[in-house]
Amino acid sequence: MIISVASGKGGTGKTTIATSLALCWKEGLFLDCDVEEPNAHIFLKPHIHERISVGIPVPEVDESKCSFCGKCAEVCEFNAIVVIKKKVLFFPELCHGCGGCSYICPEKAIKEVEREIGVVERGRSGKIDFIHGILNVGEPMAPPLIRQVKRHINSGTNAIIDASPGTSCPVVEAVKRSDFCLLVTEPTPFGLNDLKLAVEMLRKLTIPCGVVINCADIGDEKVQKYCKDEDIPILMTIPWDRRIAEAYSKGIILIDALPEFKNRFSQLYGKIERLYKR
Ligand code: SF4
Ligand code: SF4
Repeated sequence: MIISVASGKGGTGKTTIATSLALCWKEGLFLDCDVEEPNAHIFLKPHIHERISVGIPVPEVDESKCSFCGKCAEVCEFNAIVVIKKKVLFFPELCHGCGGCSYICPEKAIKEVEREIGVVERGRSGKIDFIHGILNVGEPMAPPLIRQVKRHINSGTNAIIDASPGTSCPVVEAVKRSDFCLLVTEPTPFGLNDLKLAVEMLRKLTIPCGVVINCADIGDEKVQKYCKDEDIPILMTIPWDRRIAEAYSKGIILIDALPEFKNRFSQLYGKIERLYKR
């Protein structure tokens, strides 16, 4: 089963939930797909044994062969290549590496070269195989790196995917094809607003979901009401507890800091499994 852990908004405790859930497994795969700001390694402390550079193919124009016909610029949906008189300008940060320009070029003046966008690191944390992606600073192309992280999922393997917060392209890339998505939220107007957006996204992707409400004793009851109205199961509530915040600040996994939560996370996993098999 592949479980993604997401949240419409940042700072809800998504990684706290994902890492504690992973520790309930005898073995499995943990994928940190929050490639712009991966932090699960701080808690799981994996021993990294492999580092793989990830790039996308980008065009390199040989102007000695170029007729400056402009066809490459016409085909580029992202305005990453522009032809001005006798010059071809290329903007690497806009290029999605689709290969359209080199395919269309009538003079075969474009060859593809690799541009590094980040790295994938693989390691082991106890009985968990750990993989995360680290996007280069300032690099906007997160989805290709997320795809490379997810390439390591084998059929039949239990995997937890820690997605980035929000509902943008990197989140869609991280959660798509998961069997179940756990949405972590908090009972505040911002939490509710972003939860609604995340639920809409998952419905479009036809991924079943459930909710964990963190800091459940602050805020109001509107998240509960929304979940009831929309028939979304609330699978766990966690009260505000200073000890949880302290454990997080020290890079300690919640169920290691507060072992009384271990049973609750095992039950959470059981609930997800039952919903998935239903
Ligand atoms: S399509 Fe090829 S020949 Fe035409 S402008 Fe682009 S690089 Fe030059
Ligand atoms: S590879 Fe695709 S995105 Fe990049 S410049 Fe060529 S057409 Fe544009």
